[in-house]
Amino acid sequence: MSDKIKQTARKYALQNAIQFNGKANPKAVIGKVIAVLRKDGFEPKEIIPIVNQVIADVNKLGIDKQTKELEKTAPELLIKEKKERDFSLPDLPDAEKGKVVTRFPPEPNGFLHIGHAKASIVDQEYARMYDGKFILRFDDTNPENADIKFYEAQKKDLEWLGISWDEEYNTSDNLEKHYKLAEQLIKQGDAYVCQCGPDFIKECRFDGKECDHRDCHSGENLDLWRDLVNGGLDRGILRLKGDMTCDNTAMRDPTLFRIIKKNHPIQGDKYHIWPTYDFAGAIEDSLSGVTHPFRTKEYELRDECYYRLIDLLGLRRPHLMEFARLNIEGMPVSKRKIKPLIDNGVVSGYDDIRLPTLRGLRKRGILPEAIKQFVLSQGISKVESTATFSLVEAANRKILDPIAKRFFFVPNPVKLVVKNAPEMKKEISFHPQNKEMGSRLVEAGNEFYISKPDVDNLKKDEVFRLKDLYNVKVLNKNSEVVGEFAGEGLIAKSAKIQWTSTSFVEMTVNIPHTLFKDNLYNLDSLEKVKGYAEKAISNIEKEEIVQFERFGFVRLEKTKDKINAYMAHK
Ligand SMILES: [Zn+2]
Repeated sequence: MSDKIKQTARKYALQNAIQFNGKANPKAVIGKVIAVLRKDGFEPKEIIPIVNQVIADVNKLGIDKQTKELEKTAPELLIKEKKERDFSLPDLPDAEKGKVVTRFPPEPNGFLHIGHAKASIVDQEYARMYDGKFILRFDDTNPENADIKFYEAQKKDLEWLGISWDEEYNTSDNLEKHYKLAEQLIKQGDAYVCQCGPDFIKECRFDGKECDHRDCHSGENLDLWRDLVNGGLDRGILRLKGDMTCDNTAMRDPTLFRIIKKNHPIQGDKYHIWPTYDFAGAIEDSLSGVTHPFRTKEYELRDECYYRLIDLLGLRRPHLMEFARLNIEGMPVSKRKIKPLIDNGVVSGYDDIRLPTLRGLRKRGILPEAIKQFVLSQGISKVESTATFSLVEAANRKILDPIAKRFFFVPNPVKLVVKNAPEMKKEISFHPQNKEMGSRLVEAGNEFYISKPDVDNLKKDEVFRLKDLYNVKVLNKNSEVVGEFAGEGLIAKSAKIQWTSTSFVEMTVNIPHTLFKDNLYNLDSLEKVKGYAEKAISNIEKEEIVQFERFGFVRLEKTKDKINAYMAHK
């Protein structure tokens, strides 16, 4: 008998593991196995320990072995899975197993958003795909944009997302190396110190004109550079000797180093000459062994500068990879748009549930797995496109549906009095299919609350059902509804209505809507719905995502004296 359980469990554990990066989720697998075996008379209590053991075994295999096994034993599950979510990233060019190195290089200047999620997920996935290495690098060479609190905050965001890295460092720790390479460029005559004013530099770039500094002797440039680094000169930038008439304006002698006199959160006042992204990014990718650095398409014009620098310095050439930025309709990620809303108190902070920050998404009950599935389903095309958030919601719903406890929530409650009501105590399961998730005991007297929209739909003499309890015939409807007990047997096609008894938990659910409409802030982007949740809700974990039946998936957060509720989606 237990062989049948084992066999079934193994199939679904493999399927689930393949879906979730090699680690099967016990709750989801148990639910599925119980559902499949129920008709054969198996009991949850004999199924669960076997499933748990099978999952432990399966999770040790790794995704490649898991896929191979499922291909052999139950290919139909695999094919279905692949059709539903074509997650596989395309092969990398010039990639060799064991030798691929990727990196995620955030600037520690804010909380991470869904765009960062895409980059870090793609970087990590490729490193895993090729048994390679994944580096987290803080690109912190602009002290004006580096804030100590964001190094840790960003790592927390990544950890929540399920990202793990093999190596971690700060670009600002390598400044001496950068200075050395800068000297090499100067000595070769490939870079020069320019002391022109910013407006003049701009004008020259626009007109394709060279300035006088460009022709200085390299020895003279070296002296100027050293003066800059030592603080003896407080005006000047180091520029690459590119081509001032190049069609690609990014090559018109781009800035490699500039003076920024602000204390750095890690280096303090040790340096005041800082490399630009053009310089630091290229050098770091090459020196740290990155083979396939990804960046978004808006950097495309800067690729030429990237490779020019690397070639001039005789460094190893990584294979630059590009993908389109991730855009979500009505949810801009740019600080320029979000910061004013926060500064003006229009949204509550970077974890506001309407924002596409990882903290905002987490708060409203979006799971990291859903973000990952969404990101990978979008692929790494270079074609700019705008996705709708409903895709994230769909992925999230699919994960939550088999594992979220169901509760009754009555928005806009109206009192219902039932005549001849039997006193009842009833065990109601937390999940219609997955009985293993347990149940709660509900006590019913003769007074209830049901929601205003449901009441509006009821007609006099209609018989409806208080869900999971009994039937009620409507006698009259005024400011409250009066009905009478109409038996316990199920009646086909009668409305099933969520309810609470007179013992309930008052609650306000925060519902996020699109933040921007037609590029303007949507005044109705946050909806607050007041209602009563059944009493059992007070026994949830400190943080839990549940489904309020016929209402939506809601993340609950217990505080000392109340429960905060945020809606993920319907
Ligand atoms: Zn100049």
